[in-house]
Amino acid sequence: MRTITIRYTSFRPCPNCRGRGDDGFDWRPQRCRRCRGRGRLVTGVEVEDSEEGILPPSRYEFTAQGEVYLLDFDEHEEIEVIRPGA
Ligand SMILES: [Zn+2]
Repeated sequence: MRTITIRYTSFRPCPNCRGRGDDGFDWRPQRCRRCRGRGRLVTGVEVEDSEEGILPPSRYEFTAQGEVYLLDFDEHEEIEVIRPGA
């Protein structure tokens, strides 16, 4: 099956929680909503297609939380997406 492998290539510390991953108080930790507890935001990704190789940035979009959206792919084709940390 065709596979899409996503890798994160660069990050920046989350400005909301200053990299701690929570924005609550010491006695009541609360997961940071901006970075979802990771303490960092994604600033770069690499997407590798088993058929086309490394995809150009125009083929996908990504969010600071690490969600990657593939563009211009046939919705009916079965594709296995391999996400970081999965
Ligand atoms: Zn944060």
